[in-house]
Amino acid sequence: MLNAASRRIKRVLLRFLLAFRDILDPLFQFQEVSILCYHSISNMPLDFTVAPEVFDQHLIVLEKSGAKFVTIEQILAWRAATGILPRYAVALTFDDGYRDFLSTVLPILKKHDAPATVFVVGDTGAAGARLGNDLPLLSPEEIDSLRTNPLVEIGYHSRAHPILGEIRTTDLEQEWAPGFGARFFAYPGGGYSDAAIDAVKNCGYAAAFSIKRGLVSESKDLFCLPRNTVVRNMPPWMVRAYSTRVIEWVSQLGLA
Ligand SMILES: [Zn+2]
Repeated sequence: MLNAASRRIKRVLLRFLLAFRDILDPLFQFQEVSILCYHSISNMPLDFTVAPEVFDQHLIVLEKSGAKFVTIEQILAWRAATGILPRYAVALTFDDGYRDFLSTVLPILKKHDAPATVFVVGDTGAAGARLGNDLPLLSPEEIDSLRTNPLVEIGYHSRAHPILGEIRTTDLEQEWAPGFGARFFAYPGGGYSDAAIDAVKNCGYAAAFSIKRGLVSESKDLFCLPRNTVVRNMPPWMVRAYSTRVIEWVSQLGLA
């Protein structure tokens, strides 16, 4: 755990590196592709919730700094050299499938014309017990209502949100839902194992996502793509830092 002093030092370093990146960017024309990972957008005072007005502010600041919001499909097309990406590309993802995606997130996405992927669970009862909070999850009917929304892609986040590296291989099978029709999988809690990666590949998913910080590059494994988790009280400038090569620099320094 970082103590208060080291957290403060890390913040100062992040700000310095972000300013440094902004000076270098016009010269080097960086290609930056970041996938942000949110959970609930609500006023519930939990570590992983972000208040609606703060989320809106994140998007405003990202847009002002030149970021363009893209889909996971666009990122995969860029990776396959069948499509191009804006130079500073940010994809938005939401894990667990909280009901506030429908009521709170969607209107903000519409306002910014920003696409997003929501990673839902297959069994809200079993997953809800494991998630350990009282926030309501999207029902199957609500998930279906999102399928036709042009801004929304539905991804899968396992049936019951287990830690995949810790469950028996024989119990893994029921977590993949090949019939669910999703193209993307987000490992619950960001945890995975070789067996989990193989199972996701064999199930026909096109890509899978961890919560290891970093940018998507042309070489990173499509079944362990990095995402940058955004938590409560993260100021917009820090979300910017996590969507640029600053996050790669601090990872290399062992500070991510
Ligand atoms: Zn989750």
